[in-house]
Amino acid sequence: MKNYYVMTLFPDMVEDGLNTSIMGKAIEKKIINVETVDIRAFTKEKHGHVDDYPYGGGAGMVMQAQPVYDAYRFIEDKVKEKPYVIYMTPQGKVFNQAKAKELSHKDNIVFLCGHYEGIDERVLEMIVDENMSIGDYVLTGGEMPAMVMIDSISRLVPGVLGNDASWEDESFSDGLLEYPQYTRPEVFMEKKVPGVLMTGHHANIEKWRHEQSLKRTIERRPDLLSENKGAGCKNDNDTLIEEMIKYYKGAPKRIQHFLKVYEFASMIGRMENIDSGVQHILETAAIVHDIGIKKCEKKYGKCDGSLQEKEGPAIAAKMLRKLGYNPDVIARCGYLIAHHHTYSDISGIDYRILVEADFLVNLYEDNADKKAIITAYDRIFRTNSGKMLCRTMFALDTSGFAEKAGTNDNNCL
Ligand code: SAM
Repeated sequence: MKNYYVMTLFPDMVEDGLNTSIMGKAIEKKIINVETVDIRAFTKEKHGHVDDYPYGGGAGMVMQAQPVYDAYRFIEDKVKEKPYVIYMTPQGKVFNQAKAKELSHKDNIVFLCGHYEGIDERVLEMIVDENMSIGDYVLTGGEMPAMVMIDSISRLVPGVLGNDASWEDESFSDGLLEYPQYTRPEVFMEKKVPGVLMTGHHANIEKWRHEQSLKRTIERRPDLLSENKGAGCKNDNDTLIEEMIKYYKGAPKRIQHFLKVYEFASMIGRMENIDSGVQHILETAAIVHDIGIKKCEKKYGKCDGSLQEKEGPAIAAKMLRKLGYNPDVIARCGYLIAHHHTYSDISGIDYRILVEADFLVNLYEDNADKKAIITAYDRIFRTNSGKMLCRTMFALDTSGFAEKAGTNDNNCL
């Protein structure tokens, strides 16, 4: 059984908060045990005080060391070993799912809840193993943070959730947010459940869900991908550039092309101030975006955009895997390579910038005429930085450019 001890001035608050729903059932089934320890019960002050004025002056009161220490000793005597003590404080490391997982393996955890201006530092130095915060904001007490942590840790303890596998797919467990969920009815106010979920084809459903998770993470929490980058991508993009130069050995035009696209993409991404995780994906994709050309030329004797989009992702994935890139970065780069010649439904800032950067280079390399450039400017460029680069590089007078552009598509685009 997992034992959680909450040292608090407000035991009722914690008991009321945790004795219901799934936590309540887990306590009832004796999978977890939550015991509150009332710090006030340990004070030696005759009026029951547990706080006093801060030395040195200043606003508020400070919880005294003695009752906190004695309450802790009470728990230590009970557990018969040094329990792991976590002080809830906005000054701690911010709690997350990885920490919840780590703590779910510990048997005896003490959550120390502060109030007022906090707790006398000396007792913290004596008993606390770790400081934890639940976010960068200040609450009135540590009880709610302790409850948040206990809830999150307990649901990872076997037996607490009905179906233990259910947390494995959840947000953060693999570094991504969870895919969207649907339940009956199949149609709600004319909105249908995505078709793939009704097919019963497990592989396709899994693939769809992974794509949705990745898309959602890029849109809502791209910072999670940049954290993954640190963990999963041991090679920086210089090594990838070297690999690509070797891959296109003897083809300086190809090498010059991808380096220029890479530099423009990187620059637009920085100017647009996109998230670092998305910037990493964009730069990686820009380096390998034309990787399919070599195989297409060999296999089909030509390298139309659609053939490149077909052949490129698998070759890029192989190279990126070899260099230790994060699977989610590889998946998104594959998507970008598979779509970088498709301009009808550009979704995502990485996709948009990659296409703009490719156009900036192609318009020059293909010696496009003014009309083609203006058409591209009108149809493709959406970011302010990409537009500015296009206007400046080709000295476009964009006043009334839509009229000048005409309606013809230019093949080189
Ligand atoms: N004076 C303290 C400071 O500036 O760091 C804040 C004290 S706060 C008002 C009182 C207590 O609430 C803290 O001792 C802590 O136990 C708890 N607390 C407040 N915000 C918290 C957070 N974000 N995470 C965890 N505990 C928090």
